[in-house]
Amino acid sequence: MSEPSEIIGWHDYSDSFGGKKITTINPVVQSGSTVLFDNYTDMLAAQNGEYSGVTYGTGGLTTQKAFEEALCKLENGYTTKAFPSGISAIINTLMAFTEAGDEILLCDNVYGSTARFCHTVLANKYGVKISMLASNVGAEIEEQITDKTKLIFLESPGSNTFEIQDIRAITKIASGRNIVTVIDNTWATPLYLKPLDLGIDVSIHAVTKYICGHSDLLMGVVTVNKKYADVFDNFYHNLENYTHSQDCYLALRGLRTLEVRLKAHEKSAYEIAQWLERHELVDKVLHPGLPSHPQHDLWKRDFTGAAGLFAFTFKQNYSVEKIGNFVNSLNLFGLGFSWGGFKSLITAGKFKRGGEWSHNGKDLIRLNIGLENVQDLKADLEVAFDKL
Ligand SMILES: *Cc1c(COP(=O)(O)O)cnc(C)c1O
Repeated sequence: MSEPSEIIGWHDYSDSFGGKKITTINPVVQSGSTVLFDNYTDMLAAQNGEYSGVTYGTGGLTTQKAFEEALCKLENGYTTKAFPSGISAIINTLMAFTEAGDEILLCDNVYGSTARFCHTVLANKYGVKISMLASNVGAEIEEQITDKTKLIFLESPGSNTFEIQDIRAITKIASGRNIVTVIDNTWATPLYLKPLDLGIDVSIHAVTKYICGHSDLLMGVVTVNKKYADVFDNFYHNLENYTHSQDCYLALRGLRTLEVRLKAHEKSAYEIAQWLERHELVDKVLHPGLPSHPQHDLWKRDFTGAAGLFAFTFKQNYSVEKIGNFVNSLNLFGLGFSWGGFKSLITAGKFKRGGEWSHNGKDLIRLNIGLENVQDLKADLEVAFDKL
């Protein structure tokens, strides 16, 4: 069975009324704090920690389990847990696998809030040392590993600067040393990269982006392999995060159409990226699927497609006013954070890493290519270019 068929045909859900079954093709949105036990023996077992079922709302209700199961299958994982946001999924993962005195190797292109949590809370409050990795790191990672290295955190491609890491080389080195490898897989989605198949231990998604696809919820999800499943599940149980059933419902609904949406985003993004590459005012287009991308060969080796989020730089270093003119004159591109939804979005700004500005301090213009007509999007951008 192909992936969409597996996910689309994953469950049917039935109940009964008036002696007849009511069967829908979508799961119920089950809400609840209390979960009822069948009998006192079960309740006693739960109180003694010997009950295998869900005992309370925070354990995850039916709708959440349905989403987690579907995603776990797509990622070829062993256990999958939903979280109230992408950053919550990341924070919980970092905390589950580290303690005071440990060292983390953190890629320098990661999502801003991930880096902020590491440098402020983890380092300053919980005594975990953070060392930075180059965003295109591969086997050289070995030189940065010490006997205290506990976890490696990757984001490939980074969602601001789009460098690719050599995942296979890194996991080969880490697995023998019992270092947990974690990847933020949001850009590729579970369809275009299978990190666990490449030796990664933990794969994280901001469901908020493509899986949801409609910019109407915040959610995160973590999938863990067999080796680390117990550690992660125990931490999850103790932290008692709660993800709302309605959000899990929307996330699961998003999964069913992910492939068709992603292909449409991908196609339009390629067309615009190639057009921008030929544009006289554009310097570099940062899109891993273009042959001009420095790690294009690595991308081709490991990924089966490209998402619709990429960036570019201008040849000239424009003033804040000029950049403002450019973005303000767009009609179809909304000016706002986040991505992965049906509406095209733009952000413009400089990216800092290791205390220094990337890309010679140039503005990175990041485009989330939505599902609008691609000719209309190009025409919208052309009007903005005329303002420069
Ligand atoms: C948006 C994003 C997150 C965080 O997701 P939220 O649901 O917004 O908290 C994490 N990683 C990447 C790469 C993202 O783009």
